[in-house]
Amino acid sequence: MYVCSEKRMEDKITTFSKFGDAGHGGITRYSLSPEAIMARNEFIKRMKAIGADIEIDDVANIYATIPGTDPDAKRIVMASHCDSVKNGGNYDGILGVMSAMEVLESVVEQNIPHKHPLTAMIWTNEEGSLYPPAMMCSGIVCYDWLPEDIRSKFKFEDMMQSKSILDSTKTFGEALENSGFKGDKKFRLNPENYQYMFETHIEQGPILEDAGNDVGVVDCVLGMFNYRLKFTGQTTHAGTFPMPKRKDAFFAASQAICYLHEEIDKLGYSDLVYTTGEVVCHPCVHTCVPDYFDFSFDARHEKPEVLEKVLAIVKSCADKDWSGCSCTVEKAWNRDTVYWDKKLVGYVKQSAEECGISHQYIHSGAGHDAQFASYMLPTTMIFVQSKDGLSHCEPEFSSVKHCTEGATVMLNAVLKADND
Ligand SMILES: [Zn+2]
Repeated sequence: MYVCSEKRMEDKITTFSKFGDAGHGGITRYSLSPEAIMARNEFIKRMKAIGADIEIDDVANIYATIPGTDPDAKRIVMASHCDSVKNGGNYDGILGVMSAMEVLESVVEQNIPHKHPLTAMIWTNEEGSLYPPAMMCSGIVCYDWLPEDIRSKFKFEDMMQSKSILDSTKTFGEALENSGFKGDKKFRLNPENYQYMFETHIEQGPILEDAGNDVGVVDCVLGMFNYRLKFTGQTTHAGTFPMPKRKDAFFAASQAICYLHEEIDKLGYSDLVYTTGEVVCHPCVHTCVPDYFDFSFDARHEKPEVLEKVLAIVKSCADKDWSGCSCTVEKAWNRDTVYWDKKLVGYVKQSAEECGISHQYIHSGAGHDAQFASYMLPTTMIFVQSKDGLSHCEPEFSSVKHCTEGATVMLNAVLKADND
């Protein structure tokens, strides 16, 4: 078994954490921002230093490739993203990029024989935190392979028109033009030149840490649905209108949220997660009774039959009277569970076993670029333990040991895949 370098991993973590350093332990590194461009340049510099060939596609995804011994073999690609959310941490996304770099660096430094060319890749704009949506550029590149209802959200022209959330006069297309990283469409990830995709990522949850396991062998990305529950009442004056006659849409929604928690928890699925995370309140003024309130409802589970039971409860809200307010239930979108390639999952498991790294099977509750890539190529993921399960925040942390173990597992799994 081959082992990656903790020292080199630590150096990368320290270096990349400077690009977008917000001054309190984390980073803000929006896609194609000056900070993200520093991270991209560092990636290119380090990959060129080991003799990798650099290609950039038309949406600024970067591919650094070292050749294998078989000139006809397709590439094995390892990819993640270098952008972050606002005040995010030093590991989400970039750990996958640093792990991919670490695999290539280990192969070159240790002269590890391999047949296939190996590619380390950066996906552009995974978070979508400045230019929505999330997973924008994997959505664009994998467009032709995606299911119809997913792909409709990633039309190239629409993506180019995506407006900055900070300045609505600026678009993603302009940021791309100005970045200096707009390359050629011919370099896009494709099934003719690429055989397998791996992505290493922090877990972003507490499961591995609670179980005392360093690495997760990811088997799927959970299926989910996203609905909107909309409550309509009547606005009246906060000081003049008696309580019994009110139709307070906010109050109605709060009752519905309690109802949802009670009924869904009765189903008894400990591995089901659901969230009412986004709300709209109208008129949202302290002197007015709200006449309108809506909230998002996001539920995730591996099994579609479980999600169907949850959905039936969500839909039942529309048949009830909520303190004089009506409720409509609208579907935003859903996705089925995406299972990773069984053979590649097996390579990851074997690799962790043979390296003596503690591990377990785990599902991904979050979406990742690998999920879209999986419609095009056999794909899998490796998770690295997250301290306290925190992510998308500045205290996000994974130890150098765990990060390096993740890279080591990926390296040996890639070498197993290299024999195919
Ligand atoms: Zn990520």
